[in-house]
Amino acid sequence: MSSSSPDRTGTNATTPGGTLVESDAPTPGGTFIESEEHTALRAAVSALGRRHGRDFDRETLWREAGKLGYLGVNLPEEYGGGGGGIVELSLVLEELGTAGCPLLMLIVSPAICGTVIARFGTDAQKRQWLPGLADGSLTMAFGITEPDAGSNSHRITTAARKAPDGGWILNGRKVFVSGVDIADATLVVGRTEDARTGRLKPCLFIVPRDAPGFTRSPIDMELRAAEKQFELVLDDVRLPADALVGDEDAGLLQLFAGLNPERVMTAAFALGMGRYALARAVEYAGTRQVWKEPIGAHQAIAHPLAQAHIELELARLMMRKAAHLYDTGADAAAGEAANMAKYAAAEACVKAVDQAVHTLGGNGLTREYGLASLVTAARVARIAPVSREMILNYISHQSLGLPKSY
Ligand SMILES: Cc1cc2nc3c(=O)[nH]c(=O)nc-3n(C[C@H](O)[C@H](O)[C@H](O)COP(=O)(O)OP(=O)(O)OC[C@H]3O[C@@H](n4cnc5c(N)ncnc54)[C@H](O)[C@@H]3O)c2cc1C
Repeated sequence: MSSSSPDRTGTNATTPGGTLVESDAPTPGGTFIESEEHTALRAAVSALGRRHGRDFDRETLWREAGKLGYLGVNLPEEYGGGGGGIVELSLVLEELGTAGCPLLMLIVSPAICGTVIARFGTDAQKRQWLPGLADGSLTMAFGITEPDAGSNSHRITTAARKAPDGGWILNGRKVFVSGVDIADATLVVGRTEDARTGRLKPCLFIVPRDAPGFTRSPIDMELRAAEKQFELVLDDVRLPADALVGDEDAGLLQLFAGLNPERVMTAAFALGMGRYALARAVEYAGTRQVWKEPIGAHQAIAHPLAQAHIELELARLMMRKAAHLYDTGADAAAGEAANMAKYAAAEACVKAVDQAVHTLGGNGLTREYGLASLVTAARVARIAPVSREMILNYISHQSLGLPKSY
């Protein structure tokens, strides 16, 4: 076969690195399932991300991304957002992550909190929060995890009781809540008592950062990230009646309106990190030479990187499906797809980062090359916001109809 004719994979041997994408998209990651607008958004966000790079300053990037309209692409236009959906917001996070500067609070502030307020908030709540969440001048954290409940959210005990003045009094504890210090408020998942059954049902409350009785202490995490995690104590926190978001009786539905976007966005976070790590490894493998050819010529190095690329692409397709289902209002189908996308992206990310570190040999563990810290960061996507095992449980029970062990 001549060196210029395509081989059996369809690759033209004269164009190393050419892949079987349908379109000749000018931007990294452009594929046939994306519209021109999406490709353009990807390119613009990618350019912003590359300007900031791995040593980014979170606040500066947040402000700039807000001004450019990227933080609120999913929020309604009438409140200053871009009028898009989770498809667009996930694309923003994926591209920032690919450039080495993921904004974790995108998962929380516009994706969970912005979505829940846009879908279930009162007009006053929408006016108060959405324009600021969209342009980045306001940020909201999200707290559901509790020390004694963990993955079993049915067990959360943060309780809200009605105050005589019609407001609410919250008591409870939360752990691992991200960005509480930089957020103007935290959307806290609490429970109110059902008047008929006496059973506790989940409800969402906006708790301002400086509310009396609301205290936070940072958790000493082994993570290199701009956002910290906190343990929270709510000790008789008094809130006005309008701190409750949505209907007291539709807690679960409203909660999942926020949790499904969170899963899609965590998939985007993982994909971005995986693509970032893979790109560093490919660059290195193409130039590092200890024998006759660069190390990337050895299949023991090349194949695992190729595998990582394939698995990231597959996860991205699933993420796209989940985001599309969510944006078109297919909440039930989006639930299954969002779980699958989060699972696939986290697993692909962990593998890509592991192989990237290995590709760099000793340099993979130096600070200079910036990959070693991703080993820990990648694991976040496997644990949060719902662990790998809990997704496998969900698929076993909900999709396959298998019995439960718990
Ligand atoms: C960096 C980071 C940021 C976070 N940010 C936030 C945030 O902003 N807001 C927030 O509310 N939370 C946040 N979290 C918390 C996160 O969502 C939880 O850590 C996660 O839900 C798992 O809960 P857990 O840590 O209590 O683990 P546990 O529930 O104690 O689980 C421990 C292990 O047991 C396994 N396990 C548990 N139950 C089962 C079962 N039935 N079958 C099989 N295996 C099981 C789990 O898969 C896991 O491997 C964050 C966590 C991290 C690490």
